[in-house]
Amino acid sequence: MDKYDVIVIGGSVAGLRAAEQLANRGLNVLCLDKKQEIGVPKQCGEGISLGHLQKLGIKPDRRWASQKINGAILYAPNGSAVEIDFGKTMGFVLERKAFEKHLAKKAAKAGATVKVKSNVTEVKRTEGGVIVSVCDLFANTYFAKAIFACDGPQSVIANKMGLPISIKPEDLDSGIQYEMAGIEFEKEKFIHLWFGNDIAPRGYVWLFPKGKQHANVGIGIGAHIRGSAKEYLDKWIEVRPEIKKGSIIEVNSGVIPVGGLLKKMTADNLIVIGDAAHQVNPIHGGGMGIAMEAADIATSVFEKAFQKNDFSDATFDEYNRIWWERCGNKLMRLVQIRKMMESLNDNDFNTIAEAFTGEEILTIQSGDFAKIRAIILKKLISKPALLKVMLKYLSA
Ligand SMILES: Cc1cc2nc3c(=O)[nH]c(=O)nc-3n(C[C@H](O)[C@H](O)[C@H](O)COP(=O)(O)OP(=O)(O)OC[C@H]3O[C@@H](n4cnc5c(N)ncnc54)[C@H](O)[C@@H]3O)c2cc1C
Repeated sequence: MDKYDVIVIGGSVAGLRAAEQLANRGLNVLCLDKKQEIGVPKQCGEGISLGHLQKLGIKPDRRWASQKINGAILYAPNGSAVEIDFGKTMGFVLERKAFEKHLAKKAAKAGATVKVKSNVTEVKRTEGGVIVSVCDLFANTYFAKAIFACDGPQSVIANKMGLPISIKPEDLDSGIQYEMAGIEFEKEKFIHLWFGNDIAPRGYVWLFPKGKQHANVGIGIGAHIRGSAKEYLDKWIEVRPEIKKGSIIEVNSGVIPVGGLLKKMTADNLIVIGDAAHQVNPIHGGGMGIAMEAADIATSVFEKAFQKNDFSDATFDEYNRIWWERCGNKLMRLVQIRKMMESLNDNDFNTIAEAFTGEEILTIQSGDFAKIRAIILKKLISKPALLKVMLKYLSA
């Protein structure tokens, strides 16, 4: 049986970043993914902020950062638009398959072994570590001192290791996306988002440009909502000839955790990262940057554990603590804002779009309650119609 210091289960953004960081620390790492090709299929709108890439020390590269993004345009149900223009690059729409391959190459160059077509079917704690059984060409079994569960939103690995993880349907969004070519839209340096209960209940429709006449057109809606995400997306496209005339060149779908943050993401010999730990922005559903940031925290905690030769839950608990301090508390405030937004109807969205500027909406979604209160109080004086919306928002 091959032995490793650590086995990472899941070779997507969380797992590949973790594998690279662990290998950089001189550890003997195996990263396993059940897919037959890294990055394929993608399940992603492919949007990422420049801030996240900078924090991670990843330099944007034309080979995977296909479209620069300078801002966003938000559309209310009545069509009124709020533009947030930073006047400079604030993010990218990626070619995610190429991005994941880039991460895989970095992991391999750092010394990690990355294996595709390796479905982990069983994990079992044993003396001094974990035995990992894999369904691959040779039905291999491996041993590691600990494992990282980076196996995505439908994670089973943590549960198999005795760390119960579940999520309520109302904390999940279901998403579907068409990559489309030959469509017409304006402002290809802006992401476009449409809101409204008839358009996308508890979510939004997005158009993330990938170049001229080429974009990801997708939707996320509450998974508990009656009707499928596809029905809502098709209905939205049907009345937009400029989109309908295009060709669908790829279809992606998947679930997105937008709540259910875990206080505890560790157990003896186990650390859970990324969607498997529900580490996603609950307002816009973005998880790539957050997953990689968590991987960095987890790998530095793991290094210390390795030096002590102590892979206990108590030692790994530092990951829970640091992650909550740096990311979790902010995401928790965003969960509250998401829940408040659920009580808004289409008229409320229209009122908000007419009352707030792009910069103000940006502050509201930052989760900074002191700043939100200040903006709202100022607005209530000039726009009394907002009071009704705010009372509903606050009583939710
Ligand atoms: C429709 C949609 C649009 C999205 N758009 C965006 C966006 O624009 N920007 C953004 O930042 N985020 C977006 N997200 C969220 C983002 O894709 C996730 O947050 C991110 O992929 C999480 O990365 P991860 O590595 O934790 O998990 P995943 O990317 O889900 O990867 C898990 C990996 O584990 C592997 N795996 C699972 N089980 C096993 C097993 N038993 N054995 C071996 N391998 C296994 C899988 O094959 C997979 O490669 C979107 C999600 C969806 C569904």
